[in-house]
Amino acid sequence: MFSQRRQLISFVSSLPRSRHLATQVANPSTLLSESRKTWTKDEIQAVFDTPLLELAFRSAAVHRMHHDPRKIQLCTLMNIKTGGCSEDCSYCSQSSRYSTPTVASKLLDIAPVIEAARKAKENGSTRFCMGAAWRDLAGRKRGFERILEMVRQVRGMGMEVCTTLGMLSPEQAKQLKEAGLTAYNHNLDTSREFYPSVITTRSYDERLSTIENIREAGISVCSGGILGLGETDADRVGLIWQMSILPEHPESFPVNALVPIEGTPLEANEPVPFHTVLRTIATARIVLPDTIIRLAAGRQTLSESEQAMCFMSGANAVFTGEQMLTTPCSPWDQDKEMMGRLGLEGMSSFQQKSVQAKERMTRGSVLQGSNMQSPELSHPDKILS
Ligand code: SF4
Repeated sequence: MFSQRRQLISFVSSLPRSRHLATQVANPSTLLSESRKTWTKDEIQAVFDTPLLELAFRSAAVHRMHHDPRKIQLCTLMNIKTGGCSEDCSYCSQSSRYSTPTVASKLLDIAPVIEAARKAKENGSTRFCMGAAWRDLAGRKRGFERILEMVRQVRGMGMEVCTTLGMLSPEQAKQLKEAGLTAYNHNLDTSREFYPSVITTRSYDERLSTIENIREAGISVCSGGILGLGETDADRVGLIWQMSILPEHPESFPVNALVPIEGTPLEANEPVPFHTVLRTIATARIVLPDTIIRLAAGRQTLSESEQAMCFMSGANAVFTGEQMLTTPCSPWDQDKEMMGRLGLEGMSSFQQKSVQAKERMTRGSVLQGSNMQSPELSHPDKILS
């Protein structure tokens, strides 16, 4: 790793400096970007505005210093409670405030969810994420108990298990951790400034508070955004900056491209250009070097070449399977073929170091005496450093 680093620094040092390069730096080693929480918005904007291929080169170099570039995480998402949500997220077909094709349903039983997780595992997914469309868990005691059992059973299969269940109290986060939850998804969606144009029923600070509760419980944080909401580049930068100043960088940063849904306020939004998706991924990779950058909703609209550019520039996770929450997903077979052509392999579960550290914490304290599989037992061939 270190000789590779020296080679990269030497290579970068030898590059001619263009006066158009917005990110000229005195010390080329800073091009390899250490993980830090002192980024300013101006610095991130300068990274974002770097000529595109230079930006992709830089982010690819950072990616190779912090991750195995051949590995991507395969994650399967399942909607365990669809529609009928009281919130007004203007992109979402599950909000009860809009007339959309999504049909509301009750919380699923445990059996079909476990069957779906088993199928995902057989197809190579190592993380299984369950989403429920509601504001929070208030008044849902029995439903929450059912979800805790789903978490226990999926974790017992040796998979990383993630949920996205809206706002969470510290006690609910603790219960999820005790059940074996690996990660919790709670997106900030966009910058603080643009956020009120997208959602009015919960505040940016309420979202940050849930993220804090997740982190305090020792659960990995999955939090990212959506491109194509009508935001500007400054808002994209603002979102990444917000992630960079959290007490810990999120373990996962999903980058979604809006899939406009008929009946929602954003149904007529223009698709976000690919170069914006790429810039966002590359900038996030440089600013959040240890984070898994997740190419999420909207991926099926990208060509294989475009996806390859995203992986080259630092994206290292995808959702794969039959369906996202309400939008189409690239199927396993198609993804396996693409990965074969690109020379990519699926990550083992618990491969990310920060996730491993939180799992150790689980094993060492909260789950003492439980029969839950540890990462080592699930993956004996893996080095836990
Ligand atoms: S994004 Fe989540 S919280 Fe917002 S309306 Fe949709 S289901 Fe509800």
